[in-house]
Amino acid sequence: MKYLMFFNYLIRHKWHVFIECCRYGVPWRGISHDMSKFLPDEFIAYANHYRANHISSQLIIDPIGFESSPYYYAWLIHQKRNPHHWQWWILYGKDSHPRVIPMPEKYLKEMVADWRGAGRAQGQPDTLAWYQANKNKMMLHESTRMKVEQLLQHDRIVNSQYNRGTATVVNSLNLKAADNVN
Ligand SMILES: [Zn+2]
Repeated sequence: MKYLMFFNYLIRHKWHVFIECCRYGVPWRGISHDMSKFLPDEFIAYANHYRANHISSQLIIDPIGFESSPYYYAWLIHQKRNPHHWQWWILYGKDSHPRVIPMPEKYLKEMVADWRGAGRAQGQPDTLAWYQANKNKMMLHESTRMKVEQLLQHDRIVNSQYNRGTATVVNSLNLKAADNVN
């Protein structure tokens, strides 16, 4: 049952990300997005974690420490397999000093599509606000950061135009309704 629940969630998540990737002109990134989560070494641990987070009546405490938890191991593998995660682009050289490599456009767009898709699913459609609150936790190359912010700003403008358009239609309907009352 827990596998079916997670499978269901994963398909929904992939659908949301696919829609966003199409808007950004990278549909193939949307199709291949998070495919590795169907592999057993990711799927099982993610499904267990998903179930633990969604059964609120049962507080499941992981008895194993952070380092050896199957979920964190799966997350680690997932990040190494998927260049749409910014962590993929951090290079540790011999001096153990991290170097941040610029993300190619298609992966950067897939990353933002992933944030937007996740936000929609969780009822937090304001990705720019989410990004502002979380940007200091991410290691992004200067050029990547600039492009990410341009993309989010552009989305904010497009969305507000859409909302304003909707508001105009709603207001005109209200006016018509008011006319009818009088
Ligand atoms: Zn992913």
